Amino acid sequence: MPTRVRRPVEFPRLAAVISCQANLGAASSQPDHEQLNIERGDLVLEVGSGHNPKTRADVLCDKYIEDNTQRGGTLILDRPLIVADGEALPFRGKSFDYVICSHVLEHADDAVRFLSEVERVGRAGYIETPSEVAERLYGWDYHRWYVNVMHGQLVLRPKTERSPFGQLFHRLAARDRDFARFHERYHHLMLVQYEWSDRIDYRVDLPAGQGHDLSDSGVIDAITSENRPDQRLMRVTRVVWGRLPARLRARLKAGRARARGGPRVDLRELLVCPRCCGALEWQSATVSCPADGLEFQVDRGVPIMLLPDGVDLVR
Ligand SMILES: [Zn+2]
Repeated sequence: MPTRVRRPVEFPRLAAVISCQANLGAASSQPDHEQLNIERGDLVLEVGSGHNPKTRADVLCDKYIEDNTQRGGTLILDRPLIVADGEALPFRGKSFDYVICSHVLEHADDAVRFLSEVERVGRAGYIETPSEVAERLYGWDYHRWYVNVMHGQLVLRPKTERSPFGQLFHRLAARDRDFARFHERYHHLMLVQYEWSDRIDYRVDLPAGQGHDLSDSGVIDAITSENRPDQRLMRVTRVVWGRLPARLRARLKAGRARARGGPRVDLRELLVCPRCCGALEWQSATVSCPADGLEFQVDRGVPIMLLPDGVDLVR
């Protein structure tokens, strides 16, 4: 499979987001991810779609159906949805042209397994997380990783401490307009936005490792500069969108997803056993893997492809 020729990545319209995604859900974000290198006709998976799936996603995947603890609202179910763990994805190898993972990697128990699964099922993709700066400033107790992009490489480090500021900046962002403007002005500093093709270039550092060296003025200039001519317009768009009621935003996005149409999705062609990646047998209310005797429920059309506790992958 030849490498796809991709245009340079631009992210000006991407999510503001203090939200990740609980706490400050209302303060996010953008209409969509239209700047990504997704081609017309591409089959797109979103892992961790939660309460805020991207318009462009054709297939949604989330681990939690009813538990909203780690997200900012109720699960959206307006497209084919699979309940699965990002660390054991039940999809054939390279079955998607593009995989979106927005604010989910930092939740992973085993980030290496998560990234290798995403790379296995997708030909290209986009990963967004809070940056280490945002993680330290705001802090979300259920996040497990500091994430940075350094020299074009995604760099992860286990998170070992809570934010020293507790809920201080969450509260300020929610109620102080000047502080919210500061965040808005530097939203790119708060986010890691990483697009990949063919393979994800990443490394995992030890807890004692270092993120960006913020005593170096060159590093500061690099991570705070935006240099985008339409930056101001985009900021206005972002702010206006962010102020619409969440329900209206969800309705507008669902409408746009419907209007876009998209490829016909046949889950039977995409799904495999999350444990062994073997072929599945479909019954009316269950899906099973004959190779290792696992059975998965299908609840109102949604396959629940979670592995039972203690059952590990065979890859
Ligand atoms: Zn199996």
